[in-house]
Amino acid sequence: MNIFSIEGCVAVVSGGGGVLGGSISRSLLESGAKVVILDIREENLNKRVAELESVGEVVGFACNVLEEDSLKAVAGKIIAKWGKIDILVNAAGGNMPGATLTEDQTIFDMKIEDYHKVTDLNLNGTIVPSLIFGEVMAKKGSGSIINISSMATYSAITRVMGYSVAKSGVDIFTKWMAMELALKFGDKVRVNAIAPGFFIGDQNRAVLINPDGSYTERSKKVLAKTPMGRFGDISELNGLVQFLCSDAASFITGAIIPVDGGFSSFSGV
Ligand code: NAD
Repeated sequence: MNIFSIEGCVAVVSGGGGVLGGSISRSLLESGAKVVILDIREENLNKRVAELESVGEVVGFACNVLEEDSLKAVAGKIIAKWGKIDILVNAAGGNMPGATLTEDQTIFDMKIEDYHKVTDLNLNGTIVPSLIFGEVMAKKGSGSIINISSMATYSAITRVMGYSVAKSGVDIFTKWMAMELALKFGDKVRVNAIAPGFFIGDQNRAVLINPDGSYTERSKKVLAKTPMGRFGDISELNGLVQFLCSDAASFITGAIIPVDGGFSSFSGV
């Protein structure tokens, strides 16, 4: 038996129209899972589904991860189609321009409205789908939820206060839900998080790459504190996602695992 196998599992990936969620979706399909992609941007969603249809069984739903009713409707459609949900990857999230301070702004310049938006998406956009799809898994008695944390939870990263607060909330939510499910629903419903280092995504491209393709000053600082000296390749989260979803991780719950080229373990000196 291959303890790393996820063949035949039904996986939901939020934010699958984006860079990391798209790569995770492809990898799950390549490993024999059936994949449901959720994204608020319908055009990107449709493009992603069309691109992956030749890889495996994939469907997409345009859906806001903050809307409980839409998520419940999606859960019902998945059960009608495939009868179960085994995996949830909460990859919808990211920084937002209004909530990212420019170099010359202070914390007091940030609009509180933008702070609410970024915390809502990154924190509640993980919690609400986890409650809805997680309940389906808990009732079945098995499943794996994977949240996406960030380097912004280990120590303060300039300019992104709301995002950092929200991702720190994702960390404690991960531990909390892991505890709750194991205590009340047995040892086969697990919740873990991945803390990616720096990867070029749609939501952070502008702060990392100049319009001419060169690295920004911020990029150079990131790379100086990354012992491996490079950004992550978007495929480099996929192995850990599969591991956490498989029986190989059967005693792992509540863990937050960095995939960061050493960024979180290096003082920078
Ligand atoms: P991305 O912008 O490429 O993808 C995010 C996707 O989420 C987009 O397709 C977007 O349309 C979707 N989305 C946004 N709001 C939504 C909503 N309300 N409902 C449904 N879908 C919604 O970003 P990415 O770089 O692939 O990041 C994915 C996750 O990884 C995010 O949580 C991000 O914070 C996290 N992360 C990324 C990095 C990085 O370096 N790229 C590092 C750490 C953490």
